[in-house]
Amino acid sequence: MTTNHSGDRRTFRAPKGTFDLVPPRGEAMLAVRDAMAAPLRSAGYGYVETPSFEETTLFARGVGESTDIVTKEMYSFTTRGGDDVTLRPEGTAPVLRAVLENGLHRGALPVKLWYSGSYYRYERPQKGRYRHFSQVGAEILGTEDPASDAELIVLAVDAYRALGLTGVRVLLNSLGSHESRPAYRAALQDYLRGLDLDDETARRVEINPLRVLDDKRSEIQKALASAPVVTDFLSPSDRAHHDTVRSLLTSAGVEFEDDPRLVRGLDYYTRTLFEFVHDGLGSQSAVGGGGRYDGLSELIGGPALPGVGWALGADRTLLAMEAEGLPLPGVTGVQVFAVPLGDEAAAWAFGLVTQLRRAGVAADFATGGRGLKGAMKAADRSGARYAVVVGERDLAAGVAQVKDLATGEQQAISLNGLVTHLQRLV
Ligand code: ATP
Ligand code: MG
Repeated sequence: MTTNHSGDRRTFRAPKGTFDLVPPRGEAMLAVRDAMAAPLRSAGYGYVETPSFEETTLFARGVGESTDIVTKEMYSFTTRGGDDVTLRPEGTAPVLRAVLENGLHRGALPVKLWYSGSYYRYERPQKGRYRHFSQVGAEILGTEDPASDAELIVLAVDAYRALGLTGVRVLLNSLGSHESRPAYRAALQDYLRGLDLDDETARRVEINPLRVLDDKRSEIQKALASAPVVTDFLSPSDRAHHDTVRSLLTSAGVEFEDDPRLVRGLDYYTRTLFEFVHDGLGSQSAVGGGGRYDGLSELIGGPALPGVGWALGADRTLLAMEAEGLPLPGVTGVQVFAVPLGDEAAAWAFGLVTQLRRAGVAADFATGGRGLKGAMKAADRSGARYAVVVGERDLAAGVAQVKDLATGEQQAISLNGLVTHLQRLV
């Protein structure tokens, strides 16, 4: 038996930067994830699940040594067995690892996958920025076709629309491939070296100058106003890829904004890059984002395997829905609520709700021998349209009282036909 040696009787709270989802927000979160997954499932994506933690090196190599995620935000630890592991901060590197390990890339291409789960980043907690958060992600592997980039953007936009959101904007850019990047990188470095920067930023200019574009500080953003933009440096094939993505989006009726300064927090992106933003969220405005990552497979030891993907933030999407004043989705409740009066009726009601549930009718019952008034209150709270009130005398007579809670009408129904009767009603 364990004892509390310190005599410490304090209560516990969720760790800093995390929160619980309790009803009705819990159901709303499920509904958000379902809505994000629905367009993917109807587009032929397969579901994939990977562990919540991976070897630390996977993220160091796959996300990029100089990114904020790897330098500041990872939950890394050494296990009892001496393995260095990290709670996953993102989904693409693990999913690609799983594809390579399971040989999916040796079958028919492209491989289209989706996933949903918890992610962990040691961030400064603020509204919309948590240490544990939830994403739904999608990846297409094994094709360089710009139609795949466009498809993913359309599917994300359709998910936001299905949730009723009207304020999500699509920002689009191309970072170019190995054909365009070196020239742009050099031009950007030239420009940045001419600025008066702090030591850390100056170091970043030498290691990863594109990262500087992502610096959120306003003085840096001001200094970047006349920096060269990547889209001026695109090679003819990168340009053609980008133009195809843009025209496919337009033909699908998806509005987007060209944002030549868009860079994102991961090192692996090539060519198409996009972000979904919502203006009702303050500074944590990104509700999702993604891009093409044609070199990532090689970075983690795989063969050449182009890919494109996105991750949508479920937490911020729910906040965006609240900011738009949308009703929380997914709270359904039960259809029938049984109100037994007395012990014999309680045992019978237990059997009834079991049968109803097995017959596909959502049902619940009053517990704890509550009196009629308390039990009817519980029936109202349950959201049920019908209450089945039953006492010892009803049982003796072989009936139950079915009450329509919306109209107040009540009818005695024979116990034999009760389940069928309720099935027809709901
Ligand atoms: P940001 O610029 O806001 O830090 P990011 O570029 O780090 O976002 P991604 O890695 O692209 O985010 O993750 C995709 C989505 O996951 C984001 O658009 C956001 O909605 C969500 N997300 C990322 N980090 C967090 C977090 N710490 N808390 C809640 N949601 C997050
Ligand atoms: Mg971030």
